[in-house]
Formats: sequence, structure tokens, C-alpha cells
Amino acid sequence: MPESASTARASIGVVGGSGFYEFLENAEEIKIDTPYGPPSDPITVGEVAGRQVAFLPRHGRDHRFPPHKIPYRANMWALRALGVRRVIAPTAVGSLTADYGPGTLAIPDQLVDRTRNRVQTYYDEGACHVPFADPYCPFVRATAIESARNAGWAPVDDGTLVVIEGPRFSSRAESLWFAAQGWTLVGMTGHPEAVLARELALCYAPLALVTDLDAGLEEGEGVTQAEVFEVFAANIARLRDLVAQIIAALPAAREDDDPCAHALDGINLPFDLP
Ligand SMILES: [Zn+2]
Repeated sequence: MPESASTARASIGVVGGSGFYEFLENAEEIKIDTPYGPPSDPITVGEVAGRQVAFLPRHGRDHRFPPHKIPYRANMWALRALGVRRVIAPTAVGSLTADYGPGTLAIPDQLVDRTRNRVQTYYDEGACHVPFADPYCPFVRATAIESARNAGWAPVDDGTLVVIEGPRFSSRAESLWFAAQGWTLVGMTGHPEAVLARELALCYAPLALVTDLDAGLEEGEGVTQAEVFEVFAANIARLRDLVAQIIAALPAAREDDDPCAHALDGINLPFDLP
């Protein structure tokens, strides 16, 4: 399968918050539909560091989709249909360790799925099972870590992201239990985004920005929404710059031995890939 068809509008996708529009030059908004309905919002395609990039606000521009209502399948499908093969996914997370305070950037290497009411597959027929032992793209992760170091962040370059159903935050007992397993971060949107990307043979890597210490580590009432938004807002410009630097640092096409590109080798899909 060619890396990008001649009709491709973008090769790199960014799924994130609304503060990311500003970095796109010559931006054009594309309305797109999928077999799973429309994505969270129209996708904005534009140039970053000479690359065609597709930006999709995960929660919708007006933040109308809570984490458990995001049209995850439509989102990943729409990106792929535009030609995207590598997805960078900035996301706000809570920390399960006092070592990673608010403002910490982490590029985790593992995921634990604690969601329960989300469709997490495109494969509703046949026996199709993608590998998911390593849920994130090793190449995009490595580029992200290196770019973050070059930009003066001190990124955490491993760790396990627990994705909870939400929209409520964790109870103190849940949080302590996650931490006791050695898991380090907790969020609400990293899944099924990651596995849906894998099912479409897309590269996917999260950029997890710690906004708070999770309930088990905090005294008092634990995390509040205001706290999360405040930390995210304080870091959004810096994170946006980092995303642009990662885009610039990614090679023009995927490496031949990129495992994400080969995730579907030998699998008979029940549909044609977009
Ligand atoms: Zn990859």
C-alpha cells in the first residue's frame, strides 16, 4: 500500500485541544463523513514546517463531546481517509506519582484500558486481531522524546497510561490501586484512540501533559476541573510549539520497518481501508 496516495491532503495528523489551530499555515477546513458518522468537527488541513498536517479537535471546537462520547472511530477513519499515516495526540493526564508534578510532559510506552462503554474496534466481522503489545509507535515516540529534549522539556520517556471511562475523576481507592500497580498516568481519551489507530495501521503516539496529581496522591478533595484547565492553558503554547517541532523532525515517510505500517500484514480485513 503506498504511503500516501496522490489525493492525500495530509500525512501527519494531530488530535488535540482547540489551542492548536494557530500553528497551521494556509489552513483549509475540510468537512468529511465516514461510515461511522462525522468526526468531532471538520478537520483543518494546513502546513507546518513545510508538511501537510491535519488537525482535529478531539472534543469538538466547542468542547461538546465528553470523553465517553467522542466519535473515536469516525475521527481515526477521517484522518486516514485524508492520507494521514502518523498521528500525534496531545492529551491532559493526571499523575499517579509525586515524581511527575503538574507541567510534566510524558511520552508513555504502555496503556491500560479501564474504559467500559466505548466501541473499540472497526472489526465487527471475521477474525481480525491486531498486535497491541506495544500500543504506541516506537518511531514517533522516539522523535517526540528527542524533540522535547531539544526544546528544553525534561520529558518522561516511558510509563503506563491508564485510561478510565470518565467523565468523573477516579476515587481515591481507584487511584491508589492504579499507582500500586506501578502505573504512572491516568487519562480519559487515550483509548480507544490508540487501538483504532492500530486497526487502521496508523502510527500513534501520545504527548501526555500532567495537569494534576490524581486523587490518591492529593490531600483534600483531589483534582478539580478548574485545576486541569488552568495547567493545560498555562502550557498550551509551549506544547503547540513542541508539536510543530516534532512534525518538522519526523522523516517525510514512515520507515520500512515501522511496525504500525505492518500491523495488518496477514490479516483479512472485512472492509477496504480508507
Ligand atoms: Zn509507527
